[in-house]
Amino acid sequence: MDFLLSDEQKMIYDYGESLAKTYDRAYWMEHAERRAFPVDMYKQIAADGFVGTMVPEQYGGSGLGMVEMALFKEGLSNQGVPLLSLVVGACMSMSVIGKYGSEEQKQNYLPAACSGDIRFCFAITEPDAGTNTIKASTIAKPTADGRFKLTGRKTYITDALESDYALVVTRTKPHTEVARKTDGFTLFIVDTKSKGIEMHPIPVSIPLPELQYQVFFDDVDLGPENVLGEVDKGFDILFDCLNPERILVGSISCGIGRFAMDKAVAYASERTVFKGPIGAYQALQHPLAKAKTEIELASLMTRKAAWMYDQKMECGGEASMAKYAAAEASIHAVDASLQCFGGNGYTKEYGIFDLYPLARLFKTAPLNSEMVLNYIGEKVLGLPRSY
Ligand SMILES: Cc1cc2nc3c(=O)[nH]c(=O)nc-3n(C[C@H](O)[C@H](O)[C@H](O)COP(=O)(O)OP(=O)(O)OC[C@H]3O[C@@H](n4cnc5c(N)ncnc54)[C@H](O)[C@@H]3O)c2cc1C
Repeated sequence: MDFLLSDEQKMIYDYGESLAKTYDRAYWMEHAERRAFPVDMYKQIAADGFVGTMVPEQYGGSGLGMVEMALFKEGLSNQGVPLLSLVVGACMSMSVIGKYGSEEQKQNYLPAACSGDIRFCFAITEPDAGTNTIKASTIAKPTADGRFKLTGRKTYITDALESDYALVVTRTKPHTEVARKTDGFTLFIVDTKSKGIEMHPIPVSIPLPELQYQVFFDDVDLGPENVLGEVDKGFDILFDCLNPERILVGSISCGIGRFAMDKAVAYASERTVFKGPIGAYQALQHPLAKAKTEIELASLMTRKAAWMYDQKMECGGEASMAKYAAAEASIHAVDASLQCFGGNGYTKEYGIFDLYPLARLFKTAPLNSEMVLNYIGEKVLGLPRSY
């Protein structure tokens, strides 16, 4: 077993640090305040080959794996830059099209997406179904001429209006008409400017440049060319997206936790209110040391899950444990860091409290910690299902 990164992997992990010389957390927050997508930074990341990390080289990508994608995201997040649109776009949409798309779909979408000229979002969550995807009611009804009419609603779709295409998880058969509850799902590549689509922003209290949207579909015309994979068999593809999503959320959480702690360590080493710097107080030092330990443990599990994914090994347990542990560790890291800053921690200038809503998000989304623990309880420990 080898824990050392190759030179290329080290370069990928360090990329965030070099990018931050131009596009740092201050740039990110300035865009978050304006709710404006950081186009220049995104284009630079694309030009450097990272938007297409997991896309095969013949379609404009870098042809690398989950380990490299996770290292890249962790390194970027170490600088306080989570760039969630890369999780839903580069990982959950583009790499999936690269794997399951037709030759025509790959040629049509991937080179332009890798170069940053078009963006993808990913739409699964519905207001009524929530965590219970099986209950999804958005449906693409087959028509007599071999096409589909898409009707329904999705919610909290990151970067939807600003994206050119959405990978939409929809039913092609209602759940009352299928033998297995996971049958009857189909994934469609949908042009977000199609007739019959309406979007409304959902204001959220997390400083992010990417907006979240409610998306309404009203008889949107789709053809076989929009189907990703096979009709009614979309759940198989969906299953393949879930572990990468958990792994990347693990990477982002670890990075955000480290970013907070780096700031806290620098501050606590300088700030003196009684004798010597406050960082000498064990009441501040131990929570930081504990959070640091949790972050590095979660980071190891994230890399292990990514490596297993690349080896085509079953990694649901590892990806879930990584995501759960990293989300918890990140919250503890931000909380311990915030305490070091005293009142300053709540100011825009020091920017620590701003990290809290983001760290906390990953306990709820993309899959809430309760469902992650349910998965570990059932699939790893073999306990009965609770829901
Ligand atoms: C900022 C942000 C960005 C997002 N981006 C996207 C996106 O790009 N695309 C997309 O499709 N979705 C996106 N989402 C949606 C997100 O994935 C969902 O909000 C999340 O999966 C939870 O679903 P829900 O909100 O419907 O909660 P609900 O399903 O209503 O669950 C509420 C709570 O109930 C508890 N719970 C639910 N089921 C169980 C159970 N079986 N056992 C124990 N407890 C349970 C959990 O604590 C959960 O938090 C985003 C959400 C946010 C906030």
